[in-house]
Amino acid sequence: MVSYLYASVFDFHNCTGSSKIGGSHLEIAQPRHLREFYAHCHSFTTFGGKIANYFKDLVSIDKHPTPAEVCWCSKDGTPLCPGKRANRKDLVMSIPIILTIEVDLEKPNMVWDFPETLNPLDQTAATDRGIIYDLVRLALLSPGSRHFIARHASRDKKIIYTYDGIVHKGIPVVEQEATFKSYVSGKNIKLPNGFII
Ligand SMILES: [Zn+2]
Repeated sequence: MVSYLYASVFDFHNCTGSSKIGGSHLEIAQPRHLREFYAHCHSFTTFGGKIANYFKDLVSIDKHPTPAEVCWCSKDGTPLCPGKRANRKDLVMSIPIILTIEVDLEKPNMVWDFPETLNPLDQTAATDRGIIYDLVRLALLSPGSRHFIARHASRDKKIIYTYDGIVHKGIPVVEQEATFKSYVSGKNIKLPNGFII
């Protein structure tokens, strides 16, 4: 169940150390599970508003280091190493079968572009081994009422449904003349009034 829904990530710390302790050293923190990834609005411009770019960075092992205050080597709160420390956070070591990406709602005008597919590795792995994520569903929120609904497609992506638990007796309704590109994937999809992704 864990590998089905959760990604495993870990943080990597390195420190310049000192000649006294034999130079630089590193620490690999205990791996942890993530139920979903989070696309921050402050990353929107960095990734051009594209989830494809966000995801590429997410699964990259080449993360930008962020400086940290002191080395992790300390005793009773006293640092034992004078080196300069840097952290690399959320290095992905395993990906889930069902990938969930949550979007930061702080700036709803920043609408992310969700592609039809995402490749965790490369095109060869996607083609030959099927290592590829297909976009299958969107969760939509009405911020005013804090009400969630869902948008999904049939297996062949030809029929688009919108599911709202409090209307139509909770039965998904077919969106007439809707296409996957206009109602599920991409940047400018048609949403019910008052709802955001
Ligand atoms: Zn150190």
